[in-house]
Amino acid sequence: MTTELSPDSLTGLLERARQDYQDLAGRGLSLDLTRGKPAPEQLDLSEDLLSLPGGRHTSADGTDVRNYGGLQGLAELREIFADVLQVPAGQLLALGNSSLELMHDCLVHALLSVVPGAESRWVDQERIAFLCPVPGYDRHFGLCERFGIDMIPVPMTAEGPDMDVVERLVAENPKVKGIWCVPKYSNPDGVSYSDETVARLATMQAAAPDFRIFWDNAYAAHHLTDEPVEIADLLTACADAGNEDRVFVFGSTSKITAAGAGVAFFGSSPANLKWLLANNAKRSIGPDKINQLRHVMFLRDADGVRTHMERQRALLQPKFEAVARILEAELGGTGLARWTDPKGGYFVTLEVTDGCAKEVVRRAAEAGIVLTPAGATHPYGDDPRDATIRVAPSYPSLGELEEAIAGLAVCVRLVGYEQRVG
Ligand code: PMP
Repeated sequence: MTTELSPDSLTGLLERARQDYQDLAGRGLSLDLTRGKPAPEQLDLSEDLLSLPGGRHTSADGTDVRNYGGLQGLAELREIFADVLQVPAGQLLALGNSSLELMHDCLVHALLSVVPGAESRWVDQERIAFLCPVPGYDRHFGLCERFGIDMIPVPMTAEGPDMDVVERLVAENPKVKGIWCVPKYSNPDGVSYSDETVARLATMQAAAPDFRIFWDNAYAAHHLTDEPVEIADLLTACADAGNEDRVFVFGSTSKITAAGAGVAFFGSSPANLKWLLANNAKRSIGPDKINQLRHVMFLRDADGVRTHMERQRALLQPKFEAVARILEAELGGTGLARWTDPKGGYFVTLEVTDGCAKEVVRRAAEAGIVLTPAGATHPYGDDPRDATIRVAPSYPSLGELEEAIAGLAVCVRLVGYEQRVG
């Protein structure tokens, strides 16, 4: 990312950046780019949910949704999301309000009760490890830390995790029990896995007989362009390769309808479903079927989901375009940063000069622009290059976002030129 500059022009650029930063700090901003939360206008799109299910209280098969039971979730809702999540409705469960909670539960159940194919419970084995493609989602890493699961970083490429590294580690090390994957429009770098990556994940040799891919398809329907990305179907590819039990598919409507008040899904092989249902039966007498029915009535079918996501896109796309436009105008050609231009999902990754990310985040916070802590995209909060910053453009208004990104660019120039001048 370096561009050669004479000492004089560098000093000039630094002086200008210092002046711009002083102006920025003097404006008393209070802007938040930390988390990928939907904006209020996005949530308004699902306002009708609040008056549903109206007076209705039965599902298609006549089940009274007000009562206990129905551990698999409403069949008609599973039908709607089967396509989106690439899981046949019969192998899909519609459960609670959070997919992160489901990932948490799957880890706990695997630790405390034997997963199909395992010789013993994970808690009875020596320390176990998960592969963590980086940059990745901090809450995945938080779950591993919480349960004492070692994390092994694997570099991301434009096609998904570096499969040479993944294949070697999974084949060699029986302690490697899993890998975190956000296969479409990944958090935070917007990468979608190529067909080859999916095929290699399905067919690779695993030293651990109970190895699992945690396939967190959180952004399956969250397109930002006219060319929706399609990824290959991992569940089928695993079954075809004789590794039927290898994948746990997760998804939710958190960023489709209401964040934290949507419906979460789990898809997998019949053996894994049986295992999860048996474990779930101990922790719940059934999911919130009223919320599920409300979602069925509101979204109607797979086309309904697509139409709804077009409305979401109409609100989100201008924000992502603004980020790209401002970063290009303020930082293009400086050699101080590069950034992603995602085709979907919720994040932009800004990569600054090595050793600068923490300082950029600190200076931005001092100027009233709060970003996700630098390092959060890596296991244990440790980005060895200190270069990755996750930008979440969804929540602020367009005007606030433009102000925040312009301010962030000032911080990148300030810290970058300070480092170069030395
Ligand atoms: N997975 C990923 C990759 C996410 O980005 C998020 C939300 N930021 C979640 C899961 C959380 O989803 P839920 O609301 O269903 O728990």
